[in-house]
Amino acid sequence: MVIRALVFPVVLGASLALTLLAIRAGYSAPAAIVVATLMSGVILLLLEPVIPYRSDWRRPVIKSGVDLLHVLSTGLTTHLFGALCFGAMFLVAQNFSTWIGGDLWPTRLPVVIQLGLALIIGDFGAYWVHRTCHNGTLLWRLHAMHHTSERLQVLSSARNHPGNAIFAYGSQVIPLILLGANAEVLAALSVFTAVHGLLQHGNVDLRYGVFSYVFATADLHRWHHSVNFEESNTNFGSNLALWDHVFGTFHHPGGAPERVGLDDLAVRENFGAHLVLPVTMRD
Ligand SMILES: [Zn+2]
Repeated sequence: MVIRALVFPVVLGASLALTLLAIRAGYSAPAAIVVATLMSGVILLLLEPVIPYRSDWRRPVIKSGVDLLHVLSTGLTTHLFGALCFGAMFLVAQNFSTWIGGDLWPTRLPVVIQLGLALIIGDFGAYWVHRTCHNGTLLWRLHAMHHTSERLQVLSSARNHPGNAIFAYGSQVIPLILLGANAEVLAALSVFTAVHGLLQHGNVDLRYGVFSYVFATADLHRWHHSVNFEESNTNFGSNLALWDHVFGTFHHPGGAPERVGLDDLAVRENFGAHLVLPVTMRD
C-alpha cells in the first residue's frame, strides 16, 4: 500500500509546514507546536488499529490513562523548563555574538537548511545523553521508565520521567540556543522532535525504505526497546540515525525484537509510582 510509505514523510512534513506557517501568520509558537503535534497524534492513533505493526500491541486509548498523564507531564515539564531557562540562555548567546562581533548561527540561510543543521547538532547532544543513560547508574534511574512499555504505541513516546524529559530536551536545544539559533528554528526542531517521537513509537506498519538510514525511524527504535541488552544497546538517535552510524551503534537487521520492555524491572501501572521510580528502583 502506497499509504504505508507516505505516512512518515507526509505527517512529518505537514506538521512542520503547519507550524512554520502558523508562526509566520502571527500565532504563538507553543500553540502552533501543540496543535500540529496533536493533529499528527490523532492521525497516528487512528491508523494504529487499521494497520497495526503488531496486533498484540493494540490497546484502546481509553485504557492508556497513565500514558495520557505522561503526555501532559512531558509537555508541561519541557514547557516550564523552556520558560525558566531559555530567556537567560538567549541573553548569554546575544552577549557572546556581540563580543565576537557577529553571528555564529547562519540565520540568513533558508529555515529548512537551518533546521537540518539544528537536527544534526541537537541530535549529537541527545545521542550522548541517551547513550550515557544506558551506561550509567544515575541517569539510568531517570531513563528506565521510558523502557517499561511492553508494547510500543504512539503514546509510549511520552512515557518519560520529568527528569528524563528535561535531560533529553535540554541536551538537544541548549547548544543550539548558545550558538544563536532563533526561536523559529527551535520551534521547527521542537515540532519535528515531538512528531518524529510519535512516529518512532507508533504501532503502525509503515514502510521507511531509505529514511531508515537517515532518520531514527520506528524499525530502528523498536530494537532499542528490546528486552535483550545487546539489541537495546543500539540506535540511540532521537531524530537522526547519523550519530549511530558515526559511533557504531546503528542496528538495522530488519524485523523487530521478539519482546520489548525491561525484564528486570517491575513497575506498577501508576503515575505516582512512575514519578518516584528513580528513588525506589534497585540497581
Ligand atoms: Zn533508551
